Amino acid sequence: FKIPTPKNEPGNTYAPGTKERETLKAELNRQSDIVVDIPVIINGENIKTDTVKQVVMPHDHQHVLANFSQAGEKELRDAVEAAMAAKESWANMPWEHRASIFLKAADLISGPYRDVMNAATMLGQSKTAYQTEIDAAQELADFLRFGVDYANQIYQIQPESVKNIWNRLEYRPLDGFVLAISPFNFTAIGGNLPSAPAMMGNVVVWKPATTALLSNYYFMRILEEAGLPKGVINFVPSRGSQVSEVVLTDPRMSGFHFTGSTSTFQTIWKSIGENITNYKSYPRLVGETGGKDFVFAHETAQADKVAAALVRGAFEYQGQKCSAASRAYIPSSMWEEVKADVVEETAKLKVGDIQNFTNFMGAVIDKAAFDSITSYIDYAAASEEAEIIAGGTYDDSVGYFVQPTIIVTTNPNFKTMVEEIFGPVLTIYVYENDKLEETLTAVDTASMYALTGAIFAQDRQAIMHLERRLSGAAGNFYINDKPTGAVINQQPFGGSRGSGTNDKAGSVFNMIRWTSPRIIKENF
Ligand code: GLU
Repeated sequence: FKIPTPKNEPGNTYAPGTKERETLKAELNRQSDIVVDIPVIINGENIKTDTVKQVVMPHDHQHVLANFSQAGEKELRDAVEAAMAAKESWANMPWEHRASIFLKAADLISGPYRDVMNAATMLGQSKTAYQTEIDAAQELADFLRFGVDYANQIYQIQPESVKNIWNRLEYRPLDGFVLAISPFNFTAIGGNLPSAPAMMGNVVVWKPATTALLSNYYFMRILEEAGLPKGVINFVPSRGSQVSEVVLTDPRMSGFHFTGSTSTFQTIWKSIGENITNYKSYPRLVGETGGKDFVFAHETAQADKVAAALVRGAFEYQGQKCSAASRAYIPSSMWEEVKADVVEETAKLKVGDIQNFTNFMGAVIDKAAFDSITSYIDYAAASEEAEIIAGGTYDDSVGYFVQPTIIVTTNPNFKTMVEEIFGPVLTIYVYENDKLEETLTAVDTASMYALTGAIFAQDRQAIMHLERRLSGAAGNFYINDKPTGAVINQQPFGGSRGSGTNDKAGSVFNMIRWTSPRIIKENF
């Protein structure tokens, strides 16, 4: 059989008057009018627990979208047992049948359930239609289709055989189960974290972010409809600390697939380290964590392009992308022009309910995020080293709304230049044109992260110099483009240093982590 060569899923525009806008609107209305009951799903069974919590709309936090059952210790233990019980038959299912399930799920997502996935992401995670389409429709389908293709490429890698000796690589799954913990900010990442290991024949305990539960739950249902056998992926909304106690310490935990905060990943890594003698196998640890992503403009850059990249890179999806532009370095010769542009463009951005299709930004995800982001704004407002030139206001009376905010600082190591904020806050440092090298050192060393970064320059010598000079500062490096919006199979995604293990989501490098190959030599 031949796996179809995947193509990136094309996107809809949802322009006024289009049929796709009408059907999406109808689905938004339907989902706004109901309260979904989200169970724990273990071994294909829907389980209700005594701890029921709410999923609300970030842009209208009194509006309840769903009630979910939270898994406790018993359910987490049951999920591990269900995964282990499903393991053998899943691993032995011929690859073409495993592949079929994920290919079908991709077609369901990009076809009949496109509106369902998009509406759930818009309402539950406060994404605009455009930001949702590139996530819950396009990237999620791409993760599944390209994931199947990558797995297939891996399976073709076979050793040489010589006369009288036949050598085979058997691509076994890991010797246990995989724990997947996913974030709120991309529905596609929520889908990929359990699916990638499962494609490679692993069984999974999946703890989704409770703030992305609506879309993640629909995704789980789509996998079931596509034919995923019971127990292969077990869906357990739960408390992180309890997952650490129960699932992480289980001797059969053999892989951990994570996207989330650096501190959570480090805490989990430590706990795995402390427990290392108890595991049957060394767990594979794959994590994509934080970022403090830069935009660096060289004096030969085009000022209007820099300004456009800053506004989109910093404020799309309220800056809640690990890749978001959050610190910028602009040469003084260009500053007046860039400043005028970013202030003017930022003032035009409308913030509010994402259901009206005209707002550029929705709300930030929850109260904790709102409090943390606004504390950085307050800090800058009170500092003598900083000036707020755009935004700076916020209001959580209806939804968790933060206006897109631009801070200019005189200190390249100012708090908001260094710490990840994960919200619509951009900090700019203006450097003297003759201080290029010192400034590049600051770009490279100011933060502990190295996820994405963008440089703007027209001069080829300058591009070459910046690319070399900043080689450690970003795993995804953009030349004359914003640092967000990596596309599966085009820009595999991930960074090093404090930003993760750089196993590149959406690539063969990631998929290869989910196999423990056996070499089989046969003598004739
Ligand atoms: N892949 C996304 C991008 O390039 C970011 C993913 C994340 O936020 O973790 O914008």
